Order: sequence, then structure tokens, then C-alpha cells
Amino acid sequence: MVELYDRKKPANWPELIGRCVVSLILVFLIQCSQFLVPHFFSDLSFFIQLLLSALMLLAVASAAGWCRRLLRVRSSAPALVFFSVLFVWLVYIAVVRQDASLLMNLLFNGQIILLIFGLCRMLSSDPGLVSYSTSPSDATSQSLVLEMDTHHLIEDIGLDDRLRRCPICKTYVKGFDHHCPAFGNCIGHKNYVLFMVLLFGFIWTESTYIVCLSQYSAESELLDGDGTRLEINFSKKVARSTMLFSILQLVWQVLFFLWHIYCICFNIRTDEWIHWKRYPEFQIVVQSEQGLRSNEMKFRNPYDKGVVQNVKEFIMASKQ
Ligand SMILES: [Zn+2]
Repeated sequence: MVELYDRKKPANWPELIGRCVVSLILVFLIQCSQFLVPHFFSDLSFFIQLLLSALMLLAVASAAGWCRRLLRVRSSAPALVFFSVLFVWLVYIAVVRQDASLLMNLLFNGQIILLIFGLCRMLSSDPGLVSYSTSPSDATSQSLVLEMDTHHLIEDIGLDDRLRRCPICKTYVKGFDHHCPAFGNCIGHKNYVLFMVLLFGFIWTESTYIVCLSQYSAESELLDGDGTRLEINFSKKVARSTMLFSILQLVWQVLFFLWHIYCICFNIRTDEWIHWKRYPEFQIVVQSEQGLRSNEMKFRNPYDKGVVQNVKEFIMASKQ
């Protein structure tokens, strides 16, 4: 029986707080950049505004990367997600809520609370970490023991457990899919279902927010039509900027979600799909027509047992 436990380093609180502060500043800069679009380009079509918002996001991301290299300050991706959710919630409470129905109010607030709860749960979840004992003596013997133990571990667990190494956490994870910076954890066979539920939760919440914003925009247009408000006011611009941001988020989240649905249906993990040449079980040597010496390596998925069985195995794996 293989022992499973978390091998992550204990939290360094001053560094963690510093990263959270950087994330908070970054969220503020992102939202300010998004605000500039409806502020200066409100006459342009919605699609053009959406493109400009995407460009602004890219510009802020590039500037943040440049600052990270120059000033050596790092942000925390989960804190960035958390503060972004919090910002949208604040805008909803301050601006959008007044024009939303009671049902939408209850739905959206409930979704946000569940999302924050799910995010915390994801951060502390076990993706299926596999650990091994190391000799605490000198570094050379430690690395040797580590290597030997890992070899035995892979033999003990077997190929069916699809033990892979996360390059970020430097840990071995059963059924490793990828390391998710936004959720601050590896995604493996134990937390894959939670990951999918959380991803769906984000999609659903963003969609609800966009519906609420549409209701708010319709009400604002009516007021404009009456001549009560001649110019687009500050609140409307903030609401519009968060709408652009939410739509962009929704687009990539839906694409990401669909990709994972595909992976589940065909029982392939993201890491295996990208790095299949690293894993012998995914390779099949095919002799080319030119001659015996020119063999070609092709991809084949030995884990694919048909869509129904694959989905069944995926659900069962999370309960083990
Ligand atoms: Zn990881």
C-alpha cells in the first residue's frame, strides 16, 4: 500500500501576504484597464470593445511579466482569481443588484458564496499525491534513495494509476492532468471531479452575471430614453467594463471546459496529450512504406475503453 500525503512546503506567511497584495494591485490595474474601454470607446460596436478589452488584458499581463522580472515581485494566481471574483461581487452589490429580480439576486449571491467555498476546497484538496520516504542524511544518498524509491513506487502502483510528475510542485500525482495556477494545485485523479465542478461553477456564475448585467443595461437604456440621464454615467461604465471582462473569461472557460470533457470521454489527460512522446505506453512504432530502417512513432491511447466506460471510470476514480 502506498502512502499518500501532501509534500508541499509549509507556507511562508510574509511572502504569501506580499504575493496577495501584489495580486490585489494587479486586479485593480486589470479592472482599471477594462474601464478605459467603455470610457473612451463607448461609441464603438460591442464586438470592437470586446477586442479592445482583450488587448488591454494582454497589455496588463505583459506589463506584469515585465515588472516581475525587473522588480522580482510575484503575484499569487489563486489570490488573483479570488480578488477578481470579489470585485465582480462588489460591482454587482453596488450597481447591478438594484435592477435584478429577487430570484436572480438569490441565485447570483449563492453562486458566488459556493464559488469561494469551492476555491478554498480546491486549494487544500489532495490531487492524488504519492510520496515516498527519503533518507535525511547527505544530499547524494538522499537523491539516490529518492530515485530508487520512485522506481519501486511506479512498479508497485502500476501503469494503470498513470503516475506522473508535476513540474511545478515536483511531486508525483496519480492520474495527473495538469498543474492549475489559477486554483493553486495539481489536478489529478482525486480532485479532477472537483476541478470540473468548479470550472462549471465559474461558467454558470459568469453567465448569470452577464444576464443580470443585460437586465441592468436594458433598465439604464430606458432611463436614457426618457432623458433622465443624458450621458453614460460612471456606474454604467463600470458595469459595461465588468461585462466585457466576464465575456472574455466565459469564452476561455467554456473552451477549457469543453477540452476537459473531450479528455474525459477519450480517457486522456492533458499532460499525456501534450507530452505523449515521454510515455512509452502511448507510442506505437509503425513501419513506413519506404523501407525497414525508417520506422515512424505514432500516438495510440491504451486507456481508451469507449466513451461510456471512460466516463464511468472517471467518476469512480474520484471516489477511490
Ligand atoms: Zn502541481
